[in-house]
Parts: sequence; structure tokens; C-alpha cells
Amino acid sequence: MFNKILIANRGEIALRIIRACKELGIKTVAVYSEADSNSLHVRLADESVCIGAAPSRDSYLRMDNIISAADITGAEAIHPGFGFLSENHVFAQMVEEHGITFIGPKPEHVKIMGDKILAKDAMHALGVPLVPGSPGKVATFAEAKVVAPDIGYPMLIKAACGGGGKGMQIVHTEHQLERAVTVAQMEARANFGDSSIFIEKYLQNPRHIEIQILADQHGNCVHLGERDCSIQRRHQKIWEEAPSPVVTEEMREALGATCVNAMKGMGYRGVGTMEFLFEEGQFYFIEMNTRIQVEHPITEMVTGIDLIKEQIKVAAGQKLTFTQADIRMKGHAIECRINAEDPETFMPSPGTITFYHPPGGLGVRIDSHIYDGYKIPSHYDSLLGKLIVWAPTRADCLNKLSSALDEYVIDGVKTLIPLHKRLTLHPAIIKGKFDIKWLETKFLA
Ligand code: ADP
Repeated sequence: MFNKILIANRGEIALRIIRACKELGIKTVAVYSEADSNSLHVRLADESVCIGAAPSRDSYLRMDNIISAADITGAEAIHPGFGFLSENHVFAQMVEEHGITFIGPKPEHVKIMGDKILAKDAMHALGVPLVPGSPGKVATFAEAKVVAPDIGYPMLIKAACGGGGKGMQIVHTEHQLERAVTVAQMEARANFGDSSIFIEKYLQNPRHIEIQILADQHGNCVHLGERDCSIQRRHQKIWEEAPSPVVTEEMREALGATCVNAMKGMGYRGVGTMEFLFEEGQFYFIEMNTRIQVEHPITEMVTGIDLIKEQIKVAAGQKLTFTQADIRMKGHAIECRINAEDPETFMPSPGTITFYHPPGGLGVRIDSHIYDGYKIPSHYDSLLGKLIVWAPTRADCLNKLSSALDEYVIDGVKTLIPLHKRLTLHPAIIKGKFDIKWLETKFLA
């Protein structure tokens, strides 16, 4: 096992990783930007190193500074968290070349899954069902016109290296196609530094369902069931549940087995999430995240497995101590993302927390880095933390979540707490009847 791990991240996920390390008896090194010197991750870690100025590109994205910080402090491994450098294969490679363990998959797998075209090819070859689409990259309008009849309108143009729900273009008719190809290529280059695009069938009313994977370096791989992340705004998840209200035991076993076989076929290691759209009883792979995800706690709550500790253990070369048959999903968990945003306009709401009271009680978990008097820096994303609630049934879980949200006080900035409260009371949520468009087209409309 490692003696010391450097955490190349900030906010609640940095705290989450520090806590897991403490329980494993591992020393921790926090890195921080000048804007984060008063952050809890800096205070809770055993050591800390300032890696640059406030903007992420000058600190949390500075590979050289982070690797130097690991060298100076003698950290044997780097945990990238999510966002920032977590899915950067160049960073993963650089870390390993310095004789430091990257707590994540092999750099080549980070690279394949970072390109949605390569990822879909690899998954197709391993028997995973895909959203119908172009056989690969689409370079020109002429090429798009050739593949369009097979795919059928409406279609979705996506950036191969896209992320964060950015840069997707819906195309309803052929006369929109030329412009959409041009715009998508420009946006892909501007946002992701690579203009490669591809085309998918635009599914009308799917749910977003993803499977959590965990693999060691000895050929063992398990799945930990699904999460339903259909409650989204601008393709960004806001509320997640495990299990999905629409996935049966048989569906879970079949899809889980498909994912495990694919991961074993690749020789994948670490944690990962295979994301699918689900429509009319069929699952269609869209992409894979080769890192821990924001919504991992709901899986922890229903399986009782600490995903970050497992991630660290398998990175250190340990074997999984359980098999698929040992994993049982119990009860229901929901996570609400508590963003510092106006709950009606979704405008960011930076500022200082003037009063903070988190809810508590059996089955109520808060993963957050904020505290009374905390000043939210404007340089990073708006996630203040996550409220995760577990109960034996979905109805109990919604009930408990509703009380927890009533009790949750964050003064000084606007947050999504009132939006989540309204969600818990909505008949569609209570019935579990929603898809990826529901929040925007029905609830917020
Ligand atoms: P990103 O990497 O930017 O998050 P994804 O491929 O994971 O992009 O897609 C994000 C979201 O966009 C999905 O959860 C879903 O809401 C929507 N989406 C993606 N592909 C399709 C599709 N083919 N049809 C309909 N919606 C889609």
C-alpha cells in the first residue's frame, strides 16, 4: 500500500479522498491555488503545496507543478479526482514516467475513452450496444450527407473529444445540416482543441443510465449496478438515483455482465462508468468516464462499498476481496447537487457563506467543503457539495430527502436547494416517470 498520496484536486472531492486515505492509514498531500489557501482540503491534509494562481490553467491544470509537488513531498501516487486532469492521458502518462502511480486506468485506456469515436469502436468490438450513428469521424458536410439517410433525422452532432454536455448540435432536417457541421466543428476546436465530430441518432425521450465498474490488476472485474442520471439541465446532471426506478434485476444483470465482459476484454483497471441512453427497453452506449464520478456516493450507499478506498487499493495492486455474487444492492439512494446557482435562472451565485447548517440523521450524508464564512472563489465550478440520502425504499428516500432539504440552510448565496425541494414533491418524480428532457421541457418550462 502507498504511504503518501497527492490529491490533484480541490473542493468536496479532495476532502472525500483525504478521508478515504486517513481510513487506510495513508498520508495526504493537498495542492491548492492562491484562491484556495483557506480551503478545508488544505487544512485536513497532512501537507499542502501551493501550485499557482487562481485560474485553473495556472494551478490545477499545471501538470509540471503537480508532479513537482509530488516529487518534493515524496508522494508515491496521485489521485486526480474528477474534472481538471482526471481524464488527461498525457498527464496519466507523465505521472507514470516519473515513477509515480496514477490512481486511474492505464494511460492508453484514458486516451481511448477520451475520444468518443475510439471509445465507441472499442466498445462495439467488445459486444456493447451503441447509439446508431456515423461509422466514425465525419470530416465534411458531404460526408455527413452520405451517412444521414442511414441514421435518420433528428440527428445529434457531437465532438469526439467533448465533455460537460458542450458543443452538441441537434439537426432536424437536411437543410440545417451544412451549418450544423460547420458550427459543431468550430465549437469542438474552440472548446476541446480538436475539431473531430461524429453523428448519432438523436434519441427523443431516453433516460440516462450508467453502470459503475471496478477492476483490479489481476483480471477481476465487477459492476456495482446502475445510477439513473436523467434529471439534467443542458446535458448536465443535477439529481441522481440508485437504483433506477425503471431497471429490473434481469436488466441490471444482463447490462452489468456486458460491461464487465467489455472491461475484462480491454484489461481495464480501476473505477469507471459506462454511460448509456435507455429508450423503449434498449440500452445504447454513449461514452465511458475513466475516473471516479460526482455521483459515486449513491452507489456506495446502496452497495456499502467505499469506491475511493477500493480505487486506491486496486491502484496499489491489491486484489478485489469480493466477487460479483457478494455485491447486493440494498434500499434506495438519491443525490442532489447543491450548486451555488440561482434556482430559477441558474446564474452562478458566488459570494460568502454567512450561515451554514447541514442536515443530519440516519441515512443523510453531506459531501461538501463549505463552512460558515467560506468565500466561494469565482474561478471554479459552482458545486458546493452533495446531499446524499439513503432509505430502505424509494418512497422513504424521497420523504427523508424532503425533510433534509427543509433543514439545510446555506445563507449568503443562492443555491439549488429550493429546486430540489420542489422536485421531491413533484408527481412525476414520485412516480419515477422522467427522461433526460423532463426537467427542461416539463418541470422548468
Ligand atoms: P458529455 O461527455 O458532454 O457529457 P455525453 O455523450 O455523455 O456528453 O452526453 C451527455 C448528455 O447528452 C446525455 O446524458 C444525454 O442527456 C444527451 N445525449 C447524448 N447523446 C445523445 C443522443 N444520441 N440522443 C439524445 N440525447 C443524447
